[in-house]
Amino acid sequence: MAFVASIHTLTRHGLVRGSVPSLRQGGAAVLRGGLEARGTKCVGQHPDRRAASLFSVFGRDWFTGVGRNLPSKVEMTAGCFKPISSIMSRKAYSTQAAPKGEKDRRFVSVNRDDSAGQYRVEFSSGPVGVYPYVWMRDNCRCPDCYHPSSWQRASSISDLDPDVVPTSEELVDEGSVLRVVWPDQHSSDFQAAWLNRQRFSESEKDEVGSPELQTWGGELNGRIPTFDFQRLLEEDKELYNWLDVLNVKGLALVNGAPIRQGALEELAEKVAYTKTTIYGKTFQVFSKQEASNLAYTPKALLLHIDLPFYNYTPGIQMLHCIEQTSDASGGASQFVDGLQVAEQVRQEFPEMYQTLRTLEVDFRDKGSDYRVYHLKKRRPIIQYNKYGEFMCVNYNDHVRAPYLSLPVEQVKEVYKAMKLFEEFMYRPGNLVEHRLGAGEIATFNNGRVLHGRSSYTVTKEGRRHLEGAYMDWDEAHSRMRILRETLFGDEPL
Ligand SMILES: [Zn+2]
Repeated sequence: MAFVASIHTLTRHGLVRGSVPSLRQGGAAVLRGGLEARGTKCVGQHPDRRAASLFSVFGRDWFTGVGRNLPSKVEMTAGCFKPISSIMSRKAYSTQAAPKGEKDRRFVSVNRDDSAGQYRVEFSSGPVGVYPYVWMRDNCRCPDCYHPSSWQRASSISDLDPDVVPTSEELVDEGSVLRVVWPDQHSSDFQAAWLNRQRFSESEKDEVGSPELQTWGGELNGRIPTFDFQRLLEEDKELYNWLDVLNVKGLALVNGAPIRQGALEELAEKVAYTKTTIYGKTFQVFSKQEASNLAYTPKALLLHIDLPFYNYTPGIQMLHCIEQTSDASGGASQFVDGLQVAEQVRQEFPEMYQTLRTLEVDFRDKGSDYRVYHLKKRRPIIQYNKYGEFMCVNYNDHVRAPYLSLPVEQVKEVYKAMKLFEEFMYRPGNLVEHRLGAGEIATFNNGRVLHGRSSYTVTKEGRRHLEGAYMDWDEAHSRMRILRETLFGDEPL
């Protein structure tokens, strides 16, 4: 399913009328084979005329098909392409917006440094990049080396010579493309815009995967960011804003959801899908006989994150209130920012903080629910990655195992540290309390925001019923990156 033609391949096919610069200015051109291009777009229809497709020429490095039944190969025979105006679809067109500032991106200079084995490249937009020859050869964008529709490398590292030195190089297409020829006569074209995005020293920060986190505390009482269920289903911008709040703050409310089971799956569908666990695809929180979890009783729940006994603890939790208890004094939800708590402990008790970061505590869950299960995992209470970035808190007294896989002389130390962490969590300035009403959904980062609830009395008038579901951050981040492409013109690397 690959349309393997870049603008260079196209121009090699021959510009019958028009020019590349005029195309860049939004003009029209006709390429050999009857392909008509206009502006940064090219439009074509497969000879069998079933699949009208739009392709971006400059907007991406390669043609991107839009539509179904795309042929595996386009034969550019006369008459197989229709004029752009007759089959352009506005909706499809809008997803193919040209990247910002594309026309400004040219090479100013390309210099070889054979002793270092790299090119030094200066771009018209200002920056200078250094690119090792082996990296250039490895990242050839030709269809033999790179499979465009899958965005995946087709070449093998076994064919790659780490000491490769190019034979020659030239700037073509008015300085917008660097063409490198290798000793085996293979030729690689690099667009300035693309190469500029790959600079080593200033590689762009992944705003989605490594966001600037914002901590919070009691000031969110009555001011939790709130989104409308229906708008989340219908508006991409609203969906992005919600995920962004979850990503940066970790806590948001959604109101206006239908008062029935199934709403969470509808919402999750806008992102990806729910994560199935031993408690099911979704789970029903109400008072049950022979409860498999304390949540399924009217007892209070201490502040905790869910499922720390999983190797892959679910990233996002959603709790949809279908019926709130008529016991007005009970059933309120509590939320605490685990990152804020971790920071406070770090500042006031640095040694305890080190204990919480390094000593591992065992969690386990055993029983029968959606499946019969026995899960075990050991992890520190506060977890950072190797770059020193906050990853998650792992705190859940209810499922902390009776055993501790620690040297016995460290046991008392870890209890002291956990007790301190718990005291900090419950500091009044850290607590946010919200009693969910029917149709409200609490959504939060399950690796960061600890949640709990006050006890309640089961009354005759009705029960308290929440439906819960999880999603993973991998899919949520993926969705955010896709949304950013259409909302903000983000260019994929
Ligand atoms: Zn190649």
